[in-house]
Amino acid sequence: MITLQDVSVTYPTGTHALQQINLQVGKGEFVFVVGSSGSGKSTFIKTLLGEVKATHGKIFVAQKQLDRIKRKELPYYRRILGVVFQEFRLLKDRNVYENVALAQRVVGVSKQKIEKNVMNILELVGLSGKEKMRPKELSGGEQQRVAIARAMVNRPAILLADEPTGNLDPQNSWEIMKLLEEVNRLGTTVIVVTHNHEIVNKMKKRVIALHSGRITSDEMQGGYIQ
Ligand code: ADP
Ligand code: ADP
Repeated sequence: MITLQDVSVTYPTGTHALQQINLQVGKGEFVFVVGSSGSGKSTFIKTLLGEVKATHGKIFVAQKQLDRIKRKELPYYRRILGVVFQEFRLLKDRNVYENVALAQRVVGVSKQKIEKNVMNILELVGLSGKEKMRPKELSGGEQQRVAIARAMVNRPAILLADEPTGNLDPQNSWEIMKLLEEVNRLGTTVIVVTHNHEIVNKMKKRVIALHSGRITSDEMQGGYIQ
């Protein structure tokens, strides 16, 4: 699903944010990416999204070679990826239904299909009955569920989650991880950037550790070692 061949990212400042990354993530995998602040995790996510260009190397995502994609084709490319952020990034003046439905509207899905898809995805994330609520009326965990529903409603092949539990208490963090595991079980490739040692150590998934822009370990059923 994702292949990086000798990928390096150097910012104009001269910082080597990623260095000679070689990596394959298969369809249907669940992968944690861990590492201390400044290790290159965000750059990795931004590179997959096409927001940051690799200075060297090749990146393939769902059989598309990222550096060959033209700027105007990027919005289509991005439909392969759903994204979830630490700070949820919901539209504050829209209710739950609208926040999720908008993602479908921008890709031109018909009104009837939108309603069916939104109701289905809200059920999956456990928010049925909360369609009319505004983000500020919801708990942090519920807001992150809305964000996951928004990211998943267009059925992307890959879900990228950047510190999805960074603003949540342990109970909600755990529930969000279980939801991501469920999304993965239903067939989506899931990549989670996190600092949460406890969750990484308990979940026994593949763990890729970054340090100074390099992969320092990559283990199936790994733990969070620094
Ligand atoms: P992490 O997400 O693990 O904290 P980042 O990918 O944000 O790491 O950063 C990796 C390195 O690249 C750090 O040294 C950071 O200061 C640097 N960096 C990140 N973004 C930029 C940028 N836009 N311009 C210059 N340097 C950057
Ligand atoms: P900004 O980056 O300007 O803060 P947002 O990320 O909050 O904006 O979202 C902008 C628009 O894109 C919204 O209409 C939102 O519904 C849609 N959107 C955001 N993330 C996704 C996603 N992962 N999948 C589909 N649509 C999304």
